[in-house]
Amino acid sequence: MEKAGNSEGVLADLLRSVFGFAQFRANQEAVCRAALEGRDLLLVMPTGAGKSLCYQLPAIALGGTALVISPLIALMDDQAAKLTALGLRVARIHSGLDRGVARQACVDYLQGALQFLFIAPERLRVPGFPEMLAKRKPGLIAIDEAHCISQWGHDFRPDYRMLGRYLPALRDGANPVPVLALTATATPAVQADILSQLGMVNPVNFIHGFRRDNLAIEVAEVPMPERPGAICGLLADPARRPAIVYATSRKQAEKLAEDLSRGASSLGGPGRIHAAAYHAGLNPEVRERVQTAFQAGELDVVVATIAFGMGIDKANIRTVIHAGLPATLEGYYQEIGRAGRDGAPSRTYLMHSYADQRTHDFFLNRDYPPVDHLQLVFRALDETSQRVEELRAKSRLGEEEFDKALEKLEIHGGARVDFGGNVTAGGNAWKKAYSIQAQYRAEQFEKVLHYTTSTDCRMAALVRHFGDIADASRPCGICDVCDPATAVLRLFRRATPAEREIVQAIVEELRGVDYKATGTLQRNLGLVGRLSRDEFDGLLDAMVRARLIEIEEAVFEKDGEVIKFRKVRLTETGLSLRASTPAELLISDGMVEEFAGRAATPARKKKTKSAGGKTVASVSGVPARTIGTKTEEPVPMQLSAAGEALAARLREWRGAEAKRLRVPAYVVMHDRTLTAVALTRPQNPRQLLEIDGIGPAKVEKFGEAILGLCTG
Ligand code: ADP
Ligand code: MG
Repeated sequence: MEKAGNSEGVLADLLRSVFGFAQFRANQEAVCRAALEGRDLLLVMPTGAGKSLCYQLPAIALGGTALVISPLIALMDDQAAKLTALGLRVARIHSGLDRGVARQACVDYLQGALQFLFIAPERLRVPGFPEMLAKRKPGLIAIDEAHCISQWGHDFRPDYRMLGRYLPALRDGANPVPVLALTATATPAVQADILSQLGMVNPVNFIHGFRRDNLAIEVAEVPMPERPGAICGLLADPARRPAIVYATSRKQAEKLAEDLSRGASSLGGPGRIHAAAYHAGLNPEVRERVQTAFQAGELDVVVATIAFGMGIDKANIRTVIHAGLPATLEGYYQEIGRAGRDGAPSRTYLMHSYADQRTHDFFLNRDYPPVDHLQLVFRALDETSQRVEELRAKSRLGEEEFDKALEKLEIHGGARVDFGGNVTAGGNAWKKAYSIQAQYRAEQFEKVLHYTTSTDCRMAALVRHFGDIADASRPCGICDVCDPATAVLRLFRRATPAEREIVQAIVEELRGVDYKATGTLQRNLGLVGRLSRDEFDGLLDAMVRARLIEIEEAVFEKDGEVIKFRKVRLTETGLSLRASTPAELLISDGMVEEFAGRAATPARKKKTKSAGGKTVASVSGVPARTIGTKTEEPVPMQLSAAGEALAARLREWRGAEAKRLRVPAYVVMHDRTLTAVALTRPQNPRQLLEIDGIGPAKVEKFGEAILGLCTG
């Protein structure tokens, strides 16, 4: 007890006196304490969460020299400069510095004069260097960007893989020093790989902070040709800007930026949208200009390929749109994570369709060439070194194909390339390692596909993907799965009476059994001819969203063949459903039509299904969308002058209420709901209840105040 109390005091004192911070951020203290107790640990927290402090503070508390291994010179220089500015004794050794500096750093290290020594992993390959380090054991070893160790990680670095080999010599003795591995991105597979590669002893895992409460995630199937219109439609609303749009190709990025700049006025939006493209094909000055202008608020929208965002530190990004499927969930999470850094509500949209799979297959083949290509290059190699150009000619591959193949061979040890551009043969083991990695990439994409069709809360799915199982059971409440009624891009309609009857029948069919397969269910209920497979699945998805049932993927074997199927089970809520209290069901009905094809044909005639859908005003200024059925003519929800005045009063009240309750404003009332209140001016609690987004609890809490504003 006493010891823990002491270490707490020591850590808090150092936090203030050395770093000048008043408080720990979430989880920092627990991590520091574990390190101080000498535990090996893996720390996975998002970028910007404050991981560096988690090794720096215990390093100072433990004394001695902390050895920090970092993959990028820029990262090393940045951290070293910050620590030096705090008055700490720091040295770096990397290829960007001259020999004299490196030599002095070694001397200082051996004399125990340093608190931090930063090195690049390849330094350990320099003969004599690991032995030099081992002469005086470090007090703590930190490995930053530790996902580089794993070939499952997206930045795999062969030199990182060697680390595990050198660590034992640096940490032997009666009191082994703690090894801390830090990263912002590691799936459970990568986490396991890091632990085993580094030979961590009884490690503690800290995996935290992936949930972002102010991000409402939406995923919608949008056919390729309709995406430009949908994106222009979304971003016509100034409240949805600044925004980043991620495009899948340079061409798409430029085209979209042009559409946005041109399309704004024809959309009737207030003024121009300032949009620009950003991709690796632009020259560095142009890229620099775009980035600076966006940062400064002179650009509203940047349409980028994945090259954008690393250096971006802009807190008020309201929207992130993916105009195509990302390759991995890690990349996707990093990109949507750029929205709403200021904590204000922000929305992200992922557009996908079947066509994305083809695009992706193309990229996969380009980035992970067939083993045959690597084989061609490998066969042309031998012990004597040859020029890269010579080898290229021998391989008979095209220039790009050759470069890719050689790059992969080198990463996996099949070829050695020196700085002068000479190549010699490496070992034979590359083939297996490469195949595993290519396979892994393909699986990563499968996960993205699964995510798009899943009926799980979007945020919970991401949190689970990053391995924070403990936090993954709580739904976010605001994504398109949790709260379909507020989805902007995805259109949901209320279930028809006939559909509700089927829902009731499904519930009865499942009562008293453990589960039924979806196919069996459809057959037993005699629905095979009546509903298409898609319609039936849509109904089941709606039931999952309403938490009436759970669906689990499963397999069975028949005649040596593995067959996939889906198990359907009733939940507690499903069990308690009675015919007299039918569930409110929202069924996915494609995309809101007002966004579809908008830029291309602004006055496109709407398809008509039937009349009588319920109309709901959408977020600030954008014309209404319909839930229920699509109407012949869109009804623009323009507020009158009096309506505007009421909306302003409501907003003021909402702000004050949010402050009082210490919650974000949208928790008190969504913009959409607020507009609907201003529009309909309810006079009594019953009328108030009819507005979407206002339930009995809201009436109870805020009814009097809202009605007061409406009638006053
Ligand atoms: P990460 O490595 O997790 O991406 P950093 O360690 O670079 O993040 O920290 C991000 C920023 O947060 C840095 O500017 C750092 O100084 C700051 N920071 C870290 N911990 C605290 C704290 N307890 N209080 C205030 N600022 C902090
Ligand atoms: Mg960091």
